[in-house]
Amino acid sequence: MRLLFVTSEIFPLIKTGGLADVSGALPIALAEYGVDVRILLPAYRGVIAKCGQVKALGRMQPFHDVFCEILETRLPGTEIPLLLIDHPALFDREGGPYHQPQSGDWQDNALRFGLLSKVAAMLAIPNRCQQWLPDMVHCNDWQTGLTPYFLQQIGSHVKSILSIHNLAFQGNFHADWRYQLGLSEQDFHPQGYEFYGQLSFMKAGLQYATKLSTVSPTYAKEIQTAEFGFGFEGLLQSRQSDLIGILNGIDTHTWNPASDPFLESHYAADSLDNKTKVKRALQQELGLPDSPHTPLLGVVSRLTYQKGLDMLPEIADQLLATGAQLAVLGNGEVALEQQFLQLKQRYPQQVAVTIGYHEPLSHRMMAGVDIFVMPSRFEPCGLNQMYGLRYGTIPVVANTGGLADSVTGGRITNTVPSDMTGFVMADKQPQTLLVTLGAAMAAYANNGHWQTLQKQAMADDVSWHHSAKQYLLLYQAALAA
Ligand code: ADP
Repeated sequence: MRLLFVTSEIFPLIKTGGLADVSGALPIALAEYGVDVRILLPAYRGVIAKCGQVKALGRMQPFHDVFCEILETRLPGTEIPLLLIDHPALFDREGGPYHQPQSGDWQDNALRFGLLSKVAAMLAIPNRCQQWLPDMVHCNDWQTGLTPYFLQQIGSHVKSILSIHNLAFQGNFHADWRYQLGLSEQDFHPQGYEFYGQLSFMKAGLQYATKLSTVSPTYAKEIQTAEFGFGFEGLLQSRQSDLIGILNGIDTHTWNPASDPFLESHYAADSLDNKTKVKRALQQELGLPDSPHTPLLGVVSRLTYQKGLDMLPEIADQLLATGAQLAVLGNGEVALEQQFLQLKQRYPQQVAVTIGYHEPLSHRMMAGVDIFVMPSRFEPCGLNQMYGLRYGTIPVVANTGGLADSVTGGRITNTVPSDMTGFVMADKQPQTLLVTLGAAMAAYANNGHWQTLQKQAMADDVSWHHSAKQYLLLYQAALAA
């Protein structure tokens, strides 16, 4: 099976969130199952320099007055071909893949990701850049949502999958962009790519892809309801038989407490004492008292409404009255950043806050904290709770999306239930978070219980092994459709 995997971010080249982790790991797992996979990505600033040998394949004209070069290299550390779209005016910019350096989306995102979507479709039909042609195109999120539409427009019979990593981001743009992107006027209606008068990349993908997937079974159900569907629930209900939820795995090589290069000490389930050393080093790094028996709670996250972390400052006084420590790494909404910084000022001995995006520190946090806090209002899959499981860092999560599918809660009485791997909130109220964190800290106080829980969490298979197989079945179903 030949597969073109199209993505707007990929670890280790460019990352803003979970999509990059998935893109950097799933194709590798698929290749291990014999899939002939190639990846397509825009050549953002700095990407080419991070790759090894780069070869020019040829030039393309995706739109009337837009030309780009297609380059070929390898995904670093692998043999997987990586195709880059070289268009310096659109992609070689200071700032993020979607945002300007300070804040605000790039004003021409419709063109930038329309180009990504179109090039993917053009690479699926005979072209001057390469002879290799895919049987299937795997699109990811709105940035690639126009690919299934373009495939149809071109008259190609190549099948397409759209994976929804987060339905909250939809790529809705002023309808006039349809002219520059060459979208057919006759498809500008509610059964086409129109969404309340706008051009919607996500809607086009949902409408025209052969099959749809999202990143957890629970989220697949949730997005068919008004609460989580962001206006697409009706369309998703109508495509229910084509929609499947496949829980993400994690890259168990990059995220391995026994070999993580960002840690000074390493540990496994049978050497958990070494985790205490990592905790002490982290406490010292963050300027917290390095007391080994104080429960250390941690957050590594985008600081946005979705993640429910505004609940933490709300319950902080009661939480910190227990003596617990709290370490936060994240960035996002300025008001929330400020709330956490103020908390740190009020509790300098108990709270450490790092505002920013810091890959090495995120590893040390996942390893060094005892309890990982993730009370998301919605969470398509979530990765950090799975990093937590792998690192024996017990997750406390909301009962939603992939959190519900990856963490098994339970009640500890005299013994720890044999399937329990974390703590799951009964509802999304701040007081419930406080109660659930209280239960986690009570378990932490019992060393035997805690180690049992840690071992059970670490024994959970969070690799891509199982999920990659499910994607294979999905591709087969799409080919047969
Ligand atoms: P989302 O994609 O919604 O942001 P996920 O849990 O799926 O959430 O993935 C988030 C990824 O981004 C994880 O790999 C996490 O470790 C990483 N991450 C989030 N915030 C930071 C940060 N401030 N510093 C380093 N890594 C971060």
